Amino acid sequence: MGGRTNLCHNAIDRHLSTRESQAALVFVSTETDVRKTYTYGELHAEVNTFAAILKAQGVGKGDRVLIYMPMIPEAVFAMLATVRIGAIHSVVFGGFAAASLATRIDDAKPKVMITADAGMRGGKTVAYRHLVDEALHLAKHPPPAVIIVDRKLEPATAEGARAHQDYAALVKRHAGANVECEWLESSEPSYILYTSGTTGNPKGIQRDTGGYAVALTASMRDIFCVAPGETMFTTSDIGWVVGHSYIVYAPLLNGSTTVMYEGLPIRPDPGIWWQIVAEYGVRTMFTSPTAIRVLKKQDTAFMKKHDLSSLRYLFLAGEPLDEPTAHWAADALGVPIVDNYWQTESGWPILSAQPGIEDTPRKFGSPSFPACGYDVRLLHEVTGAEVGGDEKGVLAILPPLPPGCMTTVWGDDRRFVETYFSTFPERLAYSTFDWATRDADGYYFVLGRTDDVINVAGHRLGTREIEEAVQAHPGIAEVAVVGVADSVKGQVPIAFAVVKDPASIATAESIARVRKEVMETVNRQLGAIARPDKVHFVSMLPKTRSGKLLRRSIQAIAEGRAPGDITTIEDPAALEQIRQALAS
Ligand code: AMP
Repeated sequence: MGGRTNLCHNAIDRHLSTRESQAALVFVSTETDVRKTYTYGELHAEVNTFAAILKAQGVGKGDRVLIYMPMIPEAVFAMLATVRIGAIHSVVFGGFAAASLATRIDDAKPKVMITADAGMRGGKTVAYRHLVDEALHLAKHPPPAVIIVDRKLEPATAEGARAHQDYAALVKRHAGANVECEWLESSEPSYILYTSGTTGNPKGIQRDTGGYAVALTASMRDIFCVAPGETMFTTSDIGWVVGHSYIVYAPLLNGSTTVMYEGLPIRPDPGIWWQIVAEYGVRTMFTSPTAIRVLKKQDTAFMKKHDLSSLRYLFLAGEPLDEPTAHWAADALGVPIVDNYWQTESGWPILSAQPGIEDTPRKFGSPSFPACGYDVRLLHEVTGAEVGGDEKGVLAILPPLPPGCMTTVWGDDRRFVETYFSTFPERLAYSTFDWATRDADGYYFVLGRTDDVINVAGHRLGTREIEEAVQAHPGIAEVAVVGVADSVKGQVPIAFAVVKDPASIATAESIARVRKEVMETVNRQLGAIARPDKVHFVSMLPKTRSGKLLRRSIQAIAEGRAPGDITTIEDPAALEQIRQALAS
């Protein structure tokens, strides 16, 4: 408390005297075939221009700016420009659908929304314009101004073109502007990032300013081992916490070079990431186990043909790292694989080896030890007492949380306390909602969630959220969504739905039609990322006598395991229906 600082100053201005002509941001798009490098000096100019644009829209300290953008440099300019003027950004992942975007608009009530005409994925255009317009229509508090970066990928309708301001035109007006940094208390918010929980309502994770800068900078030295002037390549998306921290803020705060990549890991060929590593002399690479599982299916010749001698570490996070994937990556790359465990809430690793401090041996399947600042305990889920030996407990952190961790839920302090600090009676501890064990050498093993949150390709999704989206289909009465093990994505959602009118699924044709409609409904409500892999129809769902859905039993059956304790089940025939649905 008490210090005054600015995240953009520390990410850019601070380095200008020594690094003005050093690369700050390297942009590679294999979708649009564009490569562009911005030096610290050039990034400074772009961000100042964008800051002037925001100020001209009336954005000031504490105002929110919603960023709904593909992986293009303008998204980074927008984030840095927002924090430069003391405003708060809320980046919404570009894969989320209109209804999700509208919910986030209404919670953050932004003064400006920044978007683009379209993204690109696998050579196909992903249109943003109509999604944005639909979200603006759905939102109760639509932002008064929308700025659109026109990549000329998706033509505008006459009406749409009038409604939004063109970024290129605004740049022309404000180019060369110099905008002073707004100095903030170090505890004042820098951004909000929404994440799923057990309710259908996403939580706005609020981050501070000074603590975040300190934690991220230290993590570059202690954990990721990237020095100022060296290059880091993180393959996440700016819409996720890994993207916020390790594509944008940490490398820049550290005076390093960051690589931003728009495209798939296997296009134009499965060697593209390694080509980038070789070309830009990447020192540390950071990706997800899912991405490595995708690459594992490809010929390693694509990897081997590139000179990977600059690479020192591959960091993997976001989901459990299975041993075969870890071994494959270690053998193929010949560098240490560092599994690190964290959450949107923490902003940086909670558990990780810290090779910058001590090169401890790594055990496959374990993200090693707590990072500096985390007082991690394994607590009994009911009593809150510490579990002993190899016993499984809830992974908890005793307060205070270290710098950089969430400070509250945006606009809802009570929800912050009730969600995260109320798991254990008579013990104030932050719950991660993950099960874990610790072996005799002190290594932690993360076993999965204690709540109804699932992890698809490293992204957290609330099953309740998906259930609500499925129920937006007018023909569905009830639904249960569970996460089922998948060899590539870790988990995929599967839905078991009860229709209102059995006649609506009387024929094979009508079943296929309703199934397709349900999938499309989820696409529209949440986005393709949350779309169930399969939709099965049953006439009742397994519930306890008090009406609680037995999601865990459904999940166990779907994964070919025993359903566990079902003594409280209302009607065992419901489980039989799940079995039959899966077998059909
Ligand atoms: P998110 O906030 O979307 O990044 O999701 C965080 C959740 O992902 C954690 O609570 C864990 O359940 C899971 N997770 C993240 N990293 C790991 C890891 N290295 N090993 C196992 N699970 C992980």
